[in-house]
Amino acid sequence: MTVETKTIEAVNGVKIPQLGFGGVYKIKKKEEFEMSIREAIRVGFRHFDTAKIYGNEQALGTAIEKSQIPPREKFFITSKVWNTDHGYKATKNAFEQTCKKLNVKYLDMYLIHFASPHYLETWKAMEELYMEGRIKVIGVANFEIQHLENIMKHSEIAPMINQIETHPEFPQNELHDYLKNHHILHEAWGGPLGQGNKALLEHPDLKTIAHEHQKTVAQVILRWHLQRGIIIIPKSSNPQRIKENSDIFDFVLTHEEMGGKISQLNTGRRYSIKPTGYMINPFYNRLMKIFMK
Ligand code: NAD
Repeated sequence: MTVETKTIEAVNGVKIPQLGFGGVYKIKKKEEFEMSIREAIRVGFRHFDTAKIYGNEQALGTAIEKSQIPPREKFFITSKVWNTDHGYKATKNAFEQTCKKLNVKYLDMYLIHFASPHYLETWKAMEELYMEGRIKVIGVANFEIQHLENIMKHSEIAPMINQIETHPEFPQNELHDYLKNHHILHEAWGGPLGQGNKALLEHPDLKTIAHEHQKTVAQVILRWHLQRGIIIIPKSSNPQRIKENSDIFDFVLTHEEMGGKISQLNTGRRYSIKPTGYMINPFYNRLMKIFMK
């Protein structure tokens, strides 16, 4: 198995590359952005995660086009509906704008970025786009069990994936089991590497495991996600790390390492704000714009 061939099937049978590239978030300089996408493609990444709010859908589309790896089917592209585009009509418009920027006719995956008000109407639009074949996998991000229950109660199609903060300090065990029981895939953000959290990447237990496998701590954490059946989208603009993050298919963590040492790192600590915390903050969209600069 390699970064190109290791896939996980969504409930509808669509194959999703389990290791994707989240490197398109917050990389601002054009040259650095293009270089990191080029490098990611070179080492075998085909799954790319973007969102309207990242402001680089167009740059990603251009970088993929420049890679000259036809056909479009070789790539798996995800984008997300931002909070200000919720509602039936606005979502359809946002989807068309995203496709235009990426220069694609369909998206492999489209997610609701946060469970903002009106997400049920947003979902209705996404269901229709899915039925029309414009989106291959529809899902959500930052949804909690209550939001998933609500969407499943009021909709025809259940979310196929939930992209949530996940790392060894915050493994999301309860939500992970819920997703598994409902055939919803678990995808990790912020994690997968804890957003580069130093204490995590230098944890002595992880260092010991890494040493035993002759791997880096980052590779051990990414491997831990893989073995939990989680889709991961690590971010890096450093060519050496991009390669390192792709090189996680030639070792296996033992039962003791998975269920013992690594699971003991669970402190229940998020590195990011609780998603519902964003929702109740009326200034959130403004704050987010400043934060993304
Ligand atoms: P991440 O866990 O991928 O951490 C990225 C950081 O880890 C990098 O900035 C770098 O400092 C460090 N890093 C990367 N590779 C490393 C290596 N080999 N060794 C040591 N350090 C390394 O976290 P993230 O960037 O927050 O999330 C990944 C992706 O998830 C993003 O790029 C984005 O696409 C997505 N995301 C989604 C949401 C959401 O709300 N849905 C929120 C944040 C991020």
